[in-house]
Amino acid sequence: MRRAKRILVTGGAGFLGSFLCERLLAEGHEVACVDNFFTGSRQNVAHLIANPSFEIIRHDVTFPLYVEVDEIYNLACPASPIHYQHDPVQTTKTSVHGAINMLGLAKRVGARILQASTSEVYGSPEVHPQPEGYWGRVNPIGPRSCYDEGKRCAETLFFDYWRQHALRIKVARIFNTYGPRMRPDDGRVVSNFIVQALQNQPITIYGTGEQTRSFCYVDDLIDGLVGLMRTPDDVTGPMNLGNPVEFTMRELASLVLELTGSRSDLRFLPLPIDDPTQRQPDIDYAKTVLGWQPRTRLRDGLARTIDYFENVLGSGSKLAAQ
Ligand code: NAD
Ligand code: UDP
Ligand code: UDP
Repeated sequence: MRRAKRILVTGGAGFLGSFLCERLLAEGHEVACVDNFFTGSRQNVAHLIANPSFEIIRHDVTFPLYVEVDEIYNLACPASPIHYQHDPVQTTKTSVHGAINMLGLAKRVGARILQASTSEVYGSPEVHPQPEGYWGRVNPIGPRSCYDEGKRCAETLFFDYWRQHALRIKVARIFNTYGPRMRPDDGRVVSNFIVQALQNQPITIYGTGEQTRSFCYVDDLIDGLVGLMRTPDDVTGPMNLGNPVEFTMRELASLVLELTGSRSDLRFLPLPIDDPTQRQPDIDYAKTVLGWQPRTRLRDGLARTIDYFENVLGSGSKLAAQ
């Protein structure tokens, strides 16, 4: 077995962070979960609290943090458009000041550090699918820019600390990921469609619904993140992690309706500003370096996510609404 490590997960009480904490604890590591609970919750990690190897620290990563750890996964940042646009200045601070503080921490203690970057660094891409070598097409002054440019600047900081201070860095570019523990009010398409379908409310399709995304189930994504952290020091990324199977939002809506057996109608609403029309990862690099690729079909991942939301919304919600 691998030597047990002390691992810091920032944003550990969020959707992805809570699954990551769970995985690292299951592997026998000590985990410190740092979160300011902006979009995450104690509920997401409630089942881990009894584990003596688990610790929660309420802290905002825009402030310095002094702890002793071997590895850092930097996930702290709201990920859904409605949440990251709620206080855009704080979003940029979280990405940029948060990266500086966590890099400073990694430098002081000699820890490996992984950044949860995003497909949003490609903006509304002209290259399809997007390989890591593509520099992107990002609006620097739009409503999504606080997130996109914050994450781009964080990547810059990671590579500057690597060049300037020889830090051991890993940068993952995560594409749309879904699963249990997404917030019902998160505003992302998978949670919206499932919650709407379970309540027989109209399914809100933005624009024509012909825009595409590729959806990765959370367990597959966590495999990729942990795999990337364990690569040799010369593997820095950036590395795309996501599912290359692409769907239109109309197709997603049909699948959710079929799996829930819902009677919801489709309601077409305006497309948000700067909403990318196509997004699909080129995952050749991850396949080659990690031997990784997603295994969960959308249909199966959605079924598990629907089960979760049925519980969260109350066991009677589906029937009661019918
Ligand atoms: P999430 O909103 O569920 O989790 C983010 C967590 O960070 C939350 O627990 C939140 O409370 C915490 N947080 C926010 N600001 C903070 C701050 N200043 N200090 C400390 N904690 C703070 O989102 P998620 O989907 O779990 O995303 C996790 C990471 O992965 C984010 O960095 C996000 O940008 C990245 N990512 C996610 C996706 C996806 O599809 N889920 C795609 C690309 C990138
Ligand atoms: N930092 C931190 N924890 C540490 C070490 C540093 O939060 O254990 C923060 C510190 O506040 C600093 C930032 O990380 O502002 C960057 O640190 P670095 O050593 O790179 O730069 P400097 O301290 O010279 O600004
Ligand atoms: N979307 C939609 N209906 C919703 C929520 C989102 O049609 O209720 C669309 C959104 O316009 C985008 C896609 O679904 O084209 C994915 O949106 P999400 O916010 O989940 O992720 P992102 O845009 O960051 O990829």
